[in-house]
Amino acid sequence: MKLTQFYLPTLRQAPNECDTISAKLMFRAGMIRKVASGIYEWLPLGLRVLKKVEQIIREEMNTIGGLEVWLPHLMPKEPWQETGRWNVYGKELFRLKDRKNSDFCLAPTAEEIITGMIRNEVRSYKMLPLMFYQFGTKFRDEIRPRFGVIRSREFYMKDAYSFHRDEKCAEDYYKLVYDAYCKIFTRCGLKFLPVDATTGAIGGKFSHEFMVVSGKEDNESLAGEEIIVFCKKCNYAANIEKAECVNFSSQVSGVELKKLEEVNTPSVRTVEEVSKFLNQESKNFIKTLIYVSEEVIIDKNKKDFSNTTKSDNKKIFVVLVRGDLEINETKLKEKLGVNEIKLADNDLVKDIFGIEVGFLGPVNLKLKIASYDLKIIADKSVYELKNGITGANKKDFHLKNVNIYRDYKPDLIEDLRNITVEDVCPRCGNGGLNFSKGIEVGHTFKLGTKYSESMKATFLDETGKEINFVMGCYGIGVSRVVSASIEQSNDEDGIIWYPAIAPFDVYLLPIDYKDLDIKNLTDQIYLNLKDKKLEILLDDRDERPGVKFKDADLIGIPVRITVSKKLLPDNKVEVYIRKTKEVRLVLVDKLDEEVSGIIELLKKI
Ligand code: ATP
Ligand code: MG
Repeated sequence: MKLTQFYLPTLRQAPNECDTISAKLMFRAGMIRKVASGIYEWLPLGLRVLKKVEQIIREEMNTIGGLEVWLPHLMPKEPWQETGRWNVYGKELFRLKDRKNSDFCLAPTAEEIITGMIRNEVRSYKMLPLMFYQFGTKFRDEIRPRFGVIRSREFYMKDAYSFHRDEKCAEDYYKLVYDAYCKIFTRCGLKFLPVDATTGAIGGKFSHEFMVVSGKEDNESLAGEEIIVFCKKCNYAANIEKAECVNFSSQVSGVELKKLEEVNTPSVRTVEEVSKFLNQESKNFIKTLIYVSEEVIIDKNKKDFSNTTKSDNKKIFVVLVRGDLEINETKLKEKLGVNEIKLADNDLVKDIFGIEVGFLGPVNLKLKIASYDLKIIADKSVYELKNGITGANKKDFHLKNVNIYRDYKPDLIEDLRNITVEDVCPRCGNGGLNFSKGIEVGHTFKLGTKYSESMKATFLDETGKEINFVMGCYGIGVSRVVSASIEQSNDEDGIIWYPAIAPFDVYLLPIDYKDLDIKNLTDQIYLNLKDKKLEILLDDRDERPGVKFKDADLIGIPVRITVSKKLLPDNKVEVYIRKTKEVRLVLVDKLDEEVSGIIELLKKI
């Protein structure tokens, strides 16, 4: 490809709003542009990378017997109603109506559609197992679109769904997919880790998230939204969203319960301020947080903690956690059966309780206010806390020596907090923990009969009995893989592509393409390498060499070949390896061998 016939709008500076290295570099390298929050255009250079990742995934899916299909992006409401997800999906689902006023949504995933298809098509056990996969755009109205294409509202996904006659078959197949995912991410050159995504108590069901972890020493540099927790002793690794907090050893039992005492704390509100003021550690505090949700899942198996007003649809929750710990909103949402939750702002708290959040506490808290009948939801950490400190529900006052059940009674006590370094491994029970940032690029899940039951999707076994399909589903964020790969591999000059997903293999850079001798040799190299099935980007622009070198570094093609006047007499060119910054002077006759050798080598480091 000649650059003058390509479209490579590189930028010196990324737009201010780019909040991560990968977003900055994708803009600067002319890979993507933004249309609206979380919606992007992929330009030719970006699309070349996306297609390479897609092809690697396709090959591995085919290897494990996957059959590629194309499912609609525009989906009718009915199958979503059958599974209850029309309500459950909440605001993340893009909903729309057709001209007849029928409801539709834009695909965020496709379990319902594919289960509907199988229900109509597959009648006999003889046709199983089956695995269908597709590449397609997914739409999710994310609450916080950010990090460029890492969390966007429209993105490119590979989703796969498998159907089996029994659990054993589904489990065996799950392992094949797991291995295929490991191969895919390895082939894409990613440093990744499959982490356990099963919640402790749910035995027998498998779920793994494939996390890209930083390739650099400084793990903080990765734009990962996920925090992974590792056990130092056993091989436990999990997303902290899911990591269960088991016992807390810091609080001893048998502590004498002291008399409740009110203390004056003028104008000090936060745990930090009050702990300084009273000279007490933050772990002696009961933090009282007010959460609001407007989206409640109607789950008959869950007790409803979500009392609401008549006038609006807000659900309010009083949530308690120890002062030094953080509420894990994923766990909270799950336990409360809501799919959106946020901290109430000061105005709302004042409206409801007539007092600032800093002085709120569970003791004698008015829970029946207006049409609210609030419930107190406590993290287990406050259960273990003796003689704690908390707000007195009175401006400028706190209470000391507060004890659970004596002074207040929560309606629900659950594991609701983030795991910390002070915790022990939830699996082996005695290992210390390490933490690391990660980007989730894939997710595999053994679904069981969740969808086939609610959609009544069955087949006939040997005896003619109707059996629900046992299913698995397996996603990869193809567009996210591209940005995760850049997060992992870049330097101050730009992107450093892993060869298997690089947009081109070679950046061919004639110092002056108007010079006939240089041009002739460049063209000869171009044709020769193309013949060897290498993908070449020839910088035939009439630009200063400095501009060309800068662009070459920025777009990060693994090998750069510079054709210059001074090496012409020796019939040599300069070969530069983007990753290692190594320079080699290579005879033109040996160039194809040399370049192929370098590319193979780069795949191994
Ligand atoms: P997350 O926790 O990051 O929101 P998820 O659990 O919602 O992910 P899945 O439904 O399992 O994601 O989707 C499969 C894959 O699609 C994810 O592993 C991720 O790589 C990708 N993905 C999910 N949401 C987005 C998004 N908003 N933008 C880009 N890629 C996404
Ligand atoms: Mg999500």
